[in-house]
Amino acid sequence: MAERTIFHKIIDKEIPSTVVYEDDEVLAFKDIHPKAVTHLLFIPKHFVASIADVTSETAYIPGMLILKAQRFAKEKGIDGYKLTFHVGRKGGQEVPYLHLHFLSEQSLA
Ligand code: AMP
Repeated sequence: MAERTIFHKIIDKEIPSTVVYEDDEVLAFKDIHPKAVTHLLFIPKHFVASIADVTSETAYIPGMLILKAQRFAKEKGIDGYKLTFHVGRKGGQEVPYLHLHFLSEQSLA
């Protein structure tokens, strides 16, 4: 079994984070080292290490994260943002737990 990452611990509330959205499938929280006015991470509760590990069973997850981020942005009145997946260490991925970066120069209401 893969080692539990910092994001497993954030989901299990073993380490603190600033949660901005949560439901049965997804948790979204503020990035601890923001690279934009609003920098959030959307992570699935079902563990997948990376986009590189997505299979036909888990292929719904990236789309689901994008949909949750889109709905969250609409709800918050944010209409300009960037969504990014880092894939693998050489792709800038430090935490081996699939996550969607949400970056905007608009602030959260
Ligand atoms: P990546 O480089 O794509 O793996 O992104 C991992 C992100 O997680 C980085 O932007 C980090 O700043 C962020 N991060 C790491 N630890 C924490 C934490 N405890 N709480 C919130 N964000 C974190």
